[in-house]
Amino acid sequence: MGEKMIRVGVVGYGTIGKRVADAIRKQDDMVLTGIVKTKPDYGALIADLKGIDIYTIGEDRIKNFENSGITVKGTVDDLISRCDLIVDATPKGIGLRNKISTYEPRGVRAIFQGGEKAEIADVSFVSLANFEEALGKKYVRVVSCNTTGIVRLIVALTRLGQGIKRVRVFIARRGADPKEYSRGPINDVVPDPITVPSHHALDVRSVLPHIDIVSMAIAVPVTLAHLHMVDIEFEERVSKSRIVDALYSTPRIMVVESVKGFTTPGQVVEWARDMGRHRYDIPENIIFRESISIIDNELYLFMAIHQESIVVPENIDAIRAMEKAASKWDSIRKTDKTLNLVMEGKRYE
Ligand code: NAD
Repeated sequence: MGEKMIRVGVVGYGTIGKRVADAIRKQDDMVLTGIVKTKPDYGALIADLKGIDIYTIGEDRIKNFENSGITVKGTVDDLISRCDLIVDATPKGIGLRNKISTYEPRGVRAIFQGGEKAEIADVSFVSLANFEEALGKKYVRVVSCNTTGIVRLIVALTRLGQGIKRVRVFIARRGADPKEYSRGPINDVVPDPITVPSHHALDVRSVLPHIDIVSMAIAVPVTLAHLHMVDIEFEERVSKSRIVDALYSTPRIMVVESVKGFTTPGQVVEWARDMGRHRYDIPENIIFRESISIIDNELYLFMAIHQESIVVPENIDAIRAMEKAASKWDSIRKTDKTLNLVMEGKRYE
């Protein structure tokens, strides 16, 4: 495993990209070489204030930045020439365009996000599930927020050594991220998609191909988080205490209790605000302890997923895996420590 600093560029500095960029800056084995912005908006101004080097997508855009008093270091091609690896966090579909037009011809390694189809990459990635499959790979896709959460939960329960017969997940999706003023619904509950299974089940299989999983999803007028209603059938009955122990002892899973005032995602968000978590990010799966119920061989629970931040630790681990810079557990523990996540075996206090 190497000791050089990995030079990373972030293309697409929105909800996911700005968080990944900040997370890279907290690591001692990688450096944020720069970010690519299309416009000199407040996101660019903040990046500039933070001292991050800004690049843009073409020579013709540089003047717009200069007119706003923002110095641009060059184009995406210039950034690539200074990087070992690119994290692409552009909107759905643009990652593929960038791969074909830029990353492949320039021969640069790239990480894509869950809005892209699985075929874009050699591996669809969740750290706990398949870190090793990403070792040395050229293209890796970090799966979507909901998929990341479901895969982490399945891996945590697999550690019990008890066969999982089938997984059923019903998802109330947040209608939009806080900044997405034009998305909805604002007064409806929308089957999203109306077809069954929703794409989440298929996406989980891009990481765990042998899981029997069906998912359904609705969109609700909320920006805070997704809420999953999970039903997992085991081959044999598993005790609640073993389930709780498995969840507590798995990194990136936080079990919250109603006795401490946690019965909704909004309360956990309030906790994150009060704790001074940057942007109130909660990259951990949030599992409501009192919902954990065993009926026959089946486990039921409620789980919240903070869509804006859950994939950030996975992006950091994917960088290390592709560069063969750390082993799975060294990377997971290092990432979690630097990002100040609730550590395994510890409670959220
Ligand atoms: P976003 O719209 O917040 O950010 C994307 C940014 O990329 C924007 O700032 C946009 O201006 C910029 N951009 C557009 N074209 C570009 C180009 N050619 N070069 C450089 N920048 C460009 O989107 P997001 O929510 O961060 O989503 C990014 C990816 O992450 C998508 O694949 C999405 O599916 C996935 N994802 C999103 C969430 C979420 O809840 N927001 C969660 C997990 C995964």
